Amino acid sequence: MPPKKFVFFSKKFDNFKQMRYNKFMEQTIVIIGGGASGLMLADALPKTTRVIIVERGERLGRKLSATGNGQGNVTNINAHKEAYFSVEDTRNSRAESLVREQDPTSLQTYFSSLGVLLAADSRGRVYPTGKQASALTDALRYSIARKGVETRLQARAIDLEKTSDGFFVTVQTESGTERIFADYVAVCAGGKAAKNFGTDGSAYALVKPLGHTVTTLYPSLVQLKTDTKYTKTLKGIRVADGVLTAKQKGQTRAEKGDILFTEYGISGDATFRISAFIADKITDGVELTVDFLPDFSEEQLLRIVTEKQKTFPDLPSGELLFGIVNNQIGRAIMKRADGDVASAVRFLKSFPLTVTGTLGFDYAQVTKGGIPLSETDGDLQSRFAKNLYFAGEILDVDGQCGGFNLQWAYSSAKTVAAALIKKCK
Ligand SMILES: Cc1cc2nc3c(=O)[nH]c(=O)nc-3n(C[C@H](O)[C@H](O)[C@H](O)COP(=O)(O)OP(=O)(O)OC[C@H]3O[C@@H](n4cnc5c(N)ncnc54)[C@H](O)[C@@H]3O)c2cc1C
Repeated sequence: MPPKKFVFFSKKFDNFKQMRYNKFMEQTIVIIGGGASGLMLADALPKTTRVIIVERGERLGRKLSATGNGQGNVTNINAHKEAYFSVEDTRNSRAESLVREQDPTSLQTYFSSLGVLLAADSRGRVYPTGKQASALTDALRYSIARKGVETRLQARAIDLEKTSDGFFVTVQTESGTERIFADYVAVCAGGKAAKNFGTDGSAYALVKPLGHTVTTLYPSLVQLKTDTKYTKTLKGIRVADGVLTAKQKGQTRAEKGDILFTEYGISGDATFRISAFIADKITDGVELTVDFLPDFSEEQLLRIVTEKQKTFPDLPSGELLFGIVNNQIGRAIMKRADGDVASAVRFLKSFPLTVTGTLGFDYAQVTKGGIPLSETDGDLQSRFAKNLYFAGEILDVDGQCGGFNLQWAYSSAKTVAAALIKKCK
């Protein structure tokens, strides 16, 4: 048995050796962007690495806390191929396979490990049971703090320089600029949509000098501007469970849900969902129609309206659709149909809207387009700069409305984390 004093010093020496070893081994990972994907990535990295999040905003996860109307629609149990889009790769098979690998079940298990209970609604949309998106942000904030992740707030990355053994990230803060050395960099800076959350599209410029390109960008999950000649009087009227159908070059998409008429065109969840299909095709001539009564066929409606005309022969033609649709909608339809019953019934089932544009990036929830996945390898590592990774909306992947975008943030962040964990071993 060695003397007590010797054991003490020998232990101290071992600790010292371990510290030196850790210091020697410690590698720095800088994550640009403290939003959904940046936080999930930081939380998945081992404690043995030094992780620094640089975030231009005053708080972490500002957009995450506003998602799902503040309720946090974090994923969708029906994640499927048709839920994801890519400008460059219209089949979008890579995004789909990454989401399959790190799927909604994995996301739910992850958040429950952080103490957040989740539950799905009848449409497969998953929310924290307390219906507060901020619960997601809080869980991530607490978890990364526990792991010793460093955060630099109000620190905007303005330059990314590749060196022979890593990167220098130049960060602009209130007190000036700072250059941070990183062995690895993950760009999680989001897209161009909703600039009030720090995402104005300026982050793409960080990686262009390294050889990356950016596809054409479009606002998606956004309100649509339409010619309002026949809908001016409908401002403020919401059609619950209407169907919007978009046709373009032989392709047809239909989305059921709320359609809200506004002064510029239409909003509501069916509008948001259909915008994901047509946002990049508006100038190519999209035909958009509203079915006000999807549960009735045109034949049934023709019978009903013809009967009604017989029952009330003195009814002004503008009032004929009362009790069938909202009065204002009925009048607008009868006016457009010039009083003709057969045409009015056709309009009930297929009321054409001429799409003239969208409300734009400031109002959109996501960006369609971004850095092409073909410029990254299977780990979402840059093909132009080794040890540079991407996750989230900055990539050319956008999801349908209903939790699919946060699922993508998660799946892509977990993909990058797995690669970094392997490298930092
Ligand atoms: C109002 C709204 C509601 C939404 N609701 C849902 C929903 O319910 N479900 C869903 O799945 N999706 C929803 N989305 C979309 C979803 O929030 C995004 O797709 C997701 O947050 C993208 O994650 P991200 O990490 O890629 O980017 P973000 O979460 O946007 O984070 C990017 C971060 O990077 C920071 N940043 C940017 N540039 C720099 C820089 N140069 N230096 C430092 N920091 C920088 C930004 O400040 C930002 O905090 C919603 C979006 C909005 C706007």
